[in-house]
Amino acid sequence: MISAKGYAAKSPTTPLVPFSFERRDPRDHDVVIDIKFSGICHSDIHQARDEWGGSIFPMVPGHEIAGVVRAVGPKVTKYKVGDHVGIGCFVDSCRTCDHCERDLDQYCLEGSTLTYNGYERDGKTPTQGGYSNVIVADENYVLRIPNSLPLDKAAPLLCAGITLYSPLMHWKAGPGKKVAILGLGGLGHMGVKIAAALGAEVTVLSHSEKKREDAKRMGATHFINTSEKGVFEKYKNTFDLIINTVSAEIDMGSYFGLLKLDATLVVVGVPDKPLSIHPFPLIIMRRSYSGSVIGSIKETQEMLDFCAKHDITPEIETIDPKQINDAYERVYKSDVRYRFVIDMAKLEA
Ligand code: NAP
Ligand code: ZN
Repeated sequence: MISAKGYAAKSPTTPLVPFSFERRDPRDHDVVIDIKFSGICHSDIHQARDEWGGSIFPMVPGHEIAGVVRAVGPKVTKYKVGDHVGIGCFVDSCRTCDHCERDLDQYCLEGSTLTYNGYERDGKTPTQGGYSNVIVADENYVLRIPNSLPLDKAAPLLCAGITLYSPLMHWKAGPGKKVAILGLGGLGHMGVKIAAALGAEVTVLSHSEKKREDAKRMGATHFINTSEKGVFEKYKNTFDLIINTVSAEIDMGSYFGLLKLDATLVVVGVPDKPLSIHPFPLIIMRRSYSGSVIGSIKETQEMLDFCAKHDITPEIETIDPKQINDAYERVYKSDVRYRFVIDMAKLEA
């Protein structure tokens, strides 16, 4: 076994603490990765605090992982020692269902294997994530990080980047399309940059005035402070696509009014409470309400290459592992510009 160290939540109500554990020895197709940086996604907080239910403890969170290949199993063909690589939200899937065969492995019919807070395909070995110094994964679930992307800034692309890239591509954001990103956090700010690079006209819907200048700098043409009086009336029937990245319960009904005829609101944010809506705003303009989860391995590679080509990177604040609990509090209060990334070199021996 390979000894690993990191930070774990041992219960939903206690802070994350230093934690030692073991990774499996590499199998034929496995890659051993020295983790250099790990992003903090709001999903880590939802799961470490068991806000969605069913969390597995002790839990080493982290599914925005960037590092360097330390060793490879005997049959690995895609990677070699020293390569820059990443891991996102899942590390395996059944590989045989219709969805896996169509490169939609994030929607594996048997369920993909989550990077942490899940079980290996054996159904009993818990998986542990990226707030650690080393990880072992099958080469087919490892991504290549283009050399032009620094590892610290590449990390958040593995979840925040792909979670916005996938719906933007699926719903064809591009020239002539008015796209609104609801919530300018870790996911939202990647959405603004990617949608702008795709040529869409981008608006940020944010619940305060604070991020107006940042939104414009990132590529948004318009910024709407949703707590201002009258904005929902003023902007009704405006957008072709709205992507909701908000991590908290909000009144969805008002946002549907902002969509044009036949337009779609895609939810990617997953608050701990249900989002209720009345049918009226949907039926009166034949609007659609949809959802999307991360992206496939193939699409994640496409997204990394797209970001490298267009020089798109997240705005990050790098922290020491000792600051993880403080960072969680700040994410909770929407006080992050715009993604915390943990520097794993600072893990104590
Ligand atoms: P984040 O960085 O905390 O951003 C969330 C944003 O939501 C905040 O920056 C804030 O934007 C807005 N917000 C927060 N509380 C609010 C409130 N009470 N009222 C109105 N707006 C509020 O979180 P994230 O890492 O981007 O993740 C966002 C959500 O997506 C989380 O629920 C996460 O679990 C989920 N997620 C889903 C997927 C998927 O595959 N579907 C993947 C990753 C994450 P403003 O200040 O601009 O209003
Ligand atoms: Zn995430």
